Amino acid sequence: MIELAYARATDPSDAVRRADGENAKYLGGGTNLVDLMRETVEAPSLLVDVTGLSSEIEETDDGGLIIGAATRNTAVAEHPAVRAGYPMLTRAIVAGASAQIRNMATVGGNLLQRTRCTYFYDTDGSRCNKRSPGEGCDAIEGFNRYHAILGASPACVATHPSDMCVALAALDAVVHLRGTSGERTVALCDLHRLPEDRPDVETLLEPGELITAVELPASALAARSTYRKVRDRTSYAFALVSVAAALELDGDAIADVRLALGGVAPKPWRALRAEQALRGQPATEASFLQAADAELASARPLAGNAFKVDLARRTIAAVLGQLTEEARS
Ligand SMILES: Cc1cc2nc3c(=O)[nH]c(=O)nc-3n(C[C@H](O)[C@H](O)[C@H](O)COP(=O)(O)OP(=O)(O)OC[C@H]3O[C@@H](n4cnc5c(N)ncnc54)[C@H](O)[C@@H]3O)c2cc1C
Ligand code: SF4
Repeated sequence: MIELAYARATDPSDAVRRADGENAKYLGGGTNLVDLMRETVEAPSLLVDVTGLSSEIEETDDGGLIIGAATRNTAVAEHPAVRAGYPMLTRAIVAGASAQIRNMATVGGNLLQRTRCTYFYDTDGSRCNKRSPGEGCDAIEGFNRYHAILGASPACVATHPSDMCVALAALDAVVHLRGTSGERTVALCDLHRLPEDRPDVETLLEPGELITAVELPASALAARSTYRKVRDRTSYAFALVSVAAALELDGDAIADVRLALGGVAPKPWRALRAEQALRGQPATEASFLQAADAELASARPLAGNAFKVDLARRTIAAVLGQLTEEARS
């Protein structure tokens, strides 16, 4: 029997103090962490429950939103200011998991959910560098339909599973953190690391650092945004490819654009090369495909997921085409 202690944090500093120096994990909705503990991938000796911390969604002074890390995914998706001002975020959240899981899952937990690579969960029979550094990776020569085509390394080819994070990457979200040495903020796009030779180190969080909130900057562009997820089944399935996009036209030309991809990389993938290729170009399918090609030029598909390159290309073009039609109507 493994001994496990439980404590319910009363505020962020209480949470950080309780976790300090312990083999502790923060507990959000538990929808990922409890599975990982059941599979013995994670073995904390203390759970610090942070579901009682801020679950408010408030307007910031500059007209953006700040969302407490304990806010349930459903509450974010349904909030009127999110639906009206950041529709891609609502769509990304409701594209994920099931209603019951979204009711439990918190913003902080969603950001730090771990990959769904099946070898990572198979503690009995599979080699996995993320779980046991230096052991090897059974996905590279194995079943890799769901794995990464961008940003992977010879050590790990897993994808980041979150839909919500893809929208947050496109929205330039900022993550608020609190640790033993104080508070800081990081861009969501910088929170998750690429695997390189340390796939077990997934974020730039310091040990015991707590996510306290996620901030969405004010953005007129974000109101004209969407999220599309392509998957094997319509529910309970993670993305093969997903696209979060926002578009602003100036006549027939693209004035501004935000683009991020899910299901293709070890982190939510901000498509900066595609964005750069699109600005100032005519809003046509040819421009969209050319921009997708610029982003996907560095793709390194595996035996089982080469289809993702063309799927991503076509999904980017389709989503940008849809936003263009909506902008013109
Ligand atoms: C059947 C199933 C299907 C799913 N399908 C999808 C899907 O299609 N798309 C998708 O995006 N997701 C999907 N999910 C994943 C789901 O979205 C995540 O499990 C959920 O978002 C995690 O949130 P949580 O609050 O339950 O996190 P927890 O499980 O409580 O925690 C996850 C991690 O975050 C850490 N943590 C939690 N809060 C904080 C904090 N404030 N600060 C620092 N660390 C923290 C925990 O210590 C843990 O390491 C699915 C899950 C299941 C079980
Ligand atoms: S892809 Fe990453 S998570 Fe999956 S088995 Fe390989 S090292 Fe582990």
